[in-house]
Amino acid sequence: MGVRPEGQTLLLAEYDNMLSCIRCGQCLTSCPTYVLSGNEAEGPRGRVAMARALVEGHLALTEDLVRHEQNCLVCDACTAVCPAGVHMDPLQVALRASIEPQRRRGLPERLVRHLVFRRLFPNMGAFRLLVRLIWLYQRTGLQWLARTLGILRLLGLDKTEAFLPRVSGNFLVPRGETYPAETNAGSAKATVSFFAGCIMSTALAGIDRATIRVLQRAGCDVINVDGQGCCGALNAHGGDLSAALDLARRTITAFEQDGHRATTPIVVNSAGCGAMLNDYAHHLRDDPGWASRAAAFSARVQDATTFLASRPLPLGAFTKEVRVTYQEPCHLAHAQRVRQPPRSLLQSIPGVTLVEMPESSLCCGSAGIYNLTNPVESRQLQQRKLDNALTTNPDVIATANPGCLLHLQSGLTERNSPVQVRHFIELIDEAR
Ligand code: SF4
Ligand code: SF4
Repeated sequence: MGVRPEGQTLLLAEYDNMLSCIRCGQCLTSCPTYVLSGNEAEGPRGRVAMARALVEGHLALTEDLVRHEQNCLVCDACTAVCPAGVHMDPLQVALRASIEPQRRRGLPERLVRHLVFRRLFPNMGAFRLLVRLIWLYQRTGLQWLARTLGILRLLGLDKTEAFLPRVSGNFLVPRGETYPAETNAGSAKATVSFFAGCIMSTALAGIDRATIRVLQRAGCDVINVDGQGCCGALNAHGGDLSAALDLARRTITAFEQDGHRATTPIVVNSAGCGAMLNDYAHHLRDDPGWASRAAAFSARVQDATTFLASRPLPLGAFTKEVRVTYQEPCHLAHAQRVRQPPRSLLQSIPGVTLVEMPESSLCCGSAGIYNLTNPVESRQLQQRKLDNALTTNPDVIATANPGCLLHLQSGLTERNSPVQVRHFIELIDEAR
């Protein structure tokens, strides 16, 4: 059995992408799942070949095929090294959306997917309510009680719960407000639109606030654009492309409001969101009402590291020397090809010594909800990343993506390690 006609249409839109593969194998040793398994079907070349065989009708949609494709982290490490221009992210997005209607999932799983993808991510009110409830759970002693009495272990939720960060209760709710540039900034004034994100503006709102402060210090008026919400990345990678595109259209509309906003750079501090915002142009390229708007939107998107590295930024020294190693998020290093700016920014902080870890470009295993869908591979990659990071004897592991940050933090907590994981912008914010 192949995919249904709607799925076939989605796959055909990526057929040229699949045909680009010349089977050279240059991607294999960059691919985390191939590195772990040594299995061709767990590498980019095998995945492209299976997708192509599926669309051409040479291969049936078997559980085996679905498993190998689902094991892909969509980290784009293969994309970054491919000499033929194969782009794995949109290929996987199309593939997952095309096979999702035929996947056998139990009722509880379907219910959870519906709630998360259709009720939570598209509705920031519901999203904030959920994070607020988590905040209450953590602050009222309920968490302590549930852990102490072993209730979480009984329910089989102990590992998932351990992943919860200590969430912020002071959310950053975008209302179109402007944070003014600092007057003593050393560079010409600029105006930027800020992409706040769903997790970043709630659970990790302290990082969003730090980003705004740093942008103000870099001489920017920062507009916290009203009407924005989730970027849709988790929906797209989870097989719900239509909800992801609805979120993309909503985001584009929000950032098009009033004249001057339509041309400002859109600054984003989450690598995963930034990669998705950049991909709007690709995902909506065949939609006549949205193609040019999506292209204009994506052209404005800049990761905070790239934006800040291009502007003079007054930095003060830390009171004591800090040894930092940088964990580069896949969606920054591979999907957006941003590798040097975060390193340069970290190196420019007086008192920071930046030490490179081995295999810095290998995925940490977080990859959206991969740690929930593929816990075994995710943990293997997490442990490998932590082992590599800790060989540098760091005080801090700096990163630029919420998923990596939470994943590594939970691994270090488990090891009782005193090493901190910080978003790079927090270090810049503190260096004043
Ligand atoms: S590097 Fe690109 S062209 Fe070569 S095998 Fe991998 S995906 Fe195919
Ligand atoms: S996106 Fe990452 S995990 Fe998937 S095939 Fe490419 S390198 Fe491997």
